[in-house]
Amino acid sequence: MTRPFTAGDFARRMEHAAAQAADAGLTGVLVTPGPDLVYLTGYAPIAITERITLLALHPGRRPALIAPILERPDAEAAPAAGALELSDWTDGEDPYAAAARLLDADGRYAISDPAWAMHLLGLQRTLPGSRYVSMTDALPMLRAVKGPDEIARLAEAGEAADASLEEIVKVRFAGRTEAEIAADLTALLEKHGHSQVDFTVVGSGPNGANPHHEMSDRTIEEGDMVVLDFGGIRDGYGSDTTRTVHVGEATDEEREVFEIVRRAQQAGFDAVRPGVPCQEVDRAARKVIADAGYGEYFIHRVGHGIGQTTHEPPYMIEGETRPIEPGMCFSIEPGIYLPGRFGVRIEDIVVATADGGRRLNNTSREMRIVA
Ligand code: ZN
Ligand code: ZN
Ligand code: ZN
Repeated sequence: MTRPFTAGDFARRMEHAAAQAADAGLTGVLVTPGPDLVYLTGYAPIAITERITLLALHPGRRPALIAPILERPDAEAAPAAGALELSDWTDGEDPYAAAARLLDADGRYAISDPAWAMHLLGLQRTLPGSRYVSMTDALPMLRAVKGPDEIARLAEAGEAADASLEEIVKVRFAGRTEAEIAADLTALLEKHGHSQVDFTVVGSGPNGANPHHEMSDRTIEEGDMVVLDFGGIRDGYGSDTTRTVHVGEATDEEREVFEIVRRAQQAGFDAVRPGVPCQEVDRAARKVIADAGYGEYFIHRVGHGIGQTTHEPPYMIEGETRPIEPGMCFSIEPGIYLPGRFGVRIEDIVVATADGGRRLNNTSREMRIVA
């Protein structure tokens, strides 16, 4: 078990966020409930409601949080509460006038992406001179570089996903539906400590050729390739891994396509190094698939960041020129999708280290034959 995050951890994160805002030419950072608020304060209000809760961070000022008065006891119990200037507002009062007291009237703020439009509009109406930009646009890397305690949690989530994979390959596939295998995967992730299962993709035969397929009542048959892509949240951090298995003996073509994807995934991993633009990971994996003549069948980016959510910056995609930094955690998941026939995808979570990358998923990447 990893140690809990402390008030000091949250204070450092809030200070860093305010400094990043200043570097980006902004007055400060505004955060409503969601992953950014959890990251910065450890505070996760039970319900995201129409009542505004707002954290305001300014360089050189004490972080300030305003909450509805009925949620004040919860806010006071937040791990970062000791580092926060807490205030509240009461039903019947104008919540935006109350929240606006935390802001500079002519300030320019990054605001967290899940902020409700009604809250942003309320602040704009109250402070017509204020300006807002999306957090993902202004500070995309706010949560991208993980600290050692975060990496430890991501590694444990990865181990739990790996343990689930090792158990699912022992169950019977032929004659059962995708939905039944997906239910098995959900149960396994929960058994291995996940508090939340975000997705259990089971793409058998032609369904595997659709990267957005999740699962169906299709009965899996002997001879099917089956894409298994699953993950969720364990101890506050995400898992996400894909392995493609085959029911019974595979054909030469299936083995060839599988091997190309395996080599592409390895090439993406080998490209991970601090200072390298994120897009180079995409390019390295894509080149293997294109050189083998399957370029048109690889129809998505190579990877996405992972942390308190299972999809977040940094993205391993053409055009993302920001450099990889030690501590960034992201997926590498190339695939080949042959419409109407079958698909292959292989995915690991990788953390960038001082001199390369370390995989947080470590089950075999060879083709696994299931029954
Ligand atoms: Zn087959
Ligand atoms: Zn995945
Ligand atoms: Zn993924």
